[in-house]
Amino acid sequence: MSVKPRHATVTVDVGGVSVGGNHPIVVQSMTNTDTADVASTVNQVMALARAGSELVRVTVNTEQAAAAVPRIVDTLHKFGVRVPIIGDFHYNGHILLKKYPECARALAKYRINPGNVNIGKKHDDNFRTMIEVAIENDRPVRIGVNWGSLDQALLTRMMDENSRLPEPKDARDVTLDAMVASAIESARAAERYGLGKNKIILSAKVSGVQDLIDVYRALAAQCDYPLHLGLTEAGMGAKGIVATTAALAVLLQDGIGDTIRASLTPLPNGDRTEEVVVSQQILQSLGIRSFTPQVTACPGCGRTTSTFFQEMADQIQTYLRQQMPQWKEKHPGVEAMKVAVMGCVVNGPGESKHSNIGISLPGTFEEPKAPVYVDGRLLTTLKGDRIVAEFIEILDDYIATHYA
Ligand code: SF4
Repeated sequence: MSVKPRHATVTVDVGGVSVGGNHPIVVQSMTNTDTADVASTVNQVMALARAGSELVRVTVNTEQAAAAVPRIVDTLHKFGVRVPIIGDFHYNGHILLKKYPECARALAKYRINPGNVNIGKKHDDNFRTMIEVAIENDRPVRIGVNWGSLDQALLTRMMDENSRLPEPKDARDVTLDAMVASAIESARAAERYGLGKNKIILSAKVSGVQDLIDVYRALAAQCDYPLHLGLTEAGMGAKGIVATTAALAVLLQDGIGDTIRASLTPLPNGDRTEEVVVSQQILQSLGIRSFTPQVTACPGCGRTTSTFFQEMADQIQTYLRQQMPQWKEKHPGVEAMKVAVMGCVVNGPGESKHSNIGISLPGTFEEPKAPVYVDGRLLTTLKGDRIVAEFIEILDDYIATHYA
């Protein structure tokens, strides 16, 4: 397995987390609580951070939200949660950042959307105000273009120029070009206003997989700012996860991307932390970073007529994920461990031998016993009602002795 070397970028420090350069690709997420509701936002940030989000973005859309940000950050610190908080600004960021200096100080980074800073057509003034606040507070910014809110003046200008060409491009290509131009022109303007190059991250999000791949390849070819990757408005369930994975996998394989987010739509009252798990799984499946031991499980077939094998695979996977916060401290390296839970002896022993620990459950008509392999060798054969509990004991013992 090989991943192309990373597209060369400068390094940006975001509240102590290094983004870009040769640093690990950073997983981030965003809350969906009302930021003015301090308790709900703190709880959700803590859940996201516990799940492994290394940066968390909150919307800062009103005066109440801006006033709440320092209290959110203080409360998180009191609970020992130091995850950097990023403020997401649209339309009124220049006003809120000036009027609420404690909010500006509490945030680790500001996300600016160059497509909607032009209230009253004062595009440059408002953008410049936000950049000046970033400079005053020594904070980085993400200049985040989104095609749902692309700078219309820039797009119109580029469409007009394109229409005068002997062979005009189609509208889709001009729109993607305009996104790249909006991001890069805004970044250059920020540098002219005095912001260091090592304080700028760019993104250019669209909701179509092929569009995202094209726009990021163009962006990466034209600049060396670190890039935040994400398929915007990815959607719900399997569609959102698969579309995000398809787009990000291609770009990450090309070495493009310094920080990622899976913009999934949760079900009502669904688990917001799913987006963190998906981002981690994309990076781990590509062999870029390891976060939690991986469970290899077969899909099952007519040879596994009970649900015991599926339940066991689920129990082991859940157990591994739940233990990771403590194991990460006590057992460095455990996140790269491989565990196999297989439905029968056809592929079970072979797959088990390729894992650190593997178990093959008895298939239909097989003897009711489950061989366990450790580092490629048969360790024992489990039987009876305590197969899961005994397998977990073997796992715990392996981790204690191999990742001490
Ligand atoms: S390992 Fe056995 S149970 Fe699993 S899919 Fe293969 S044949 Fe079926």
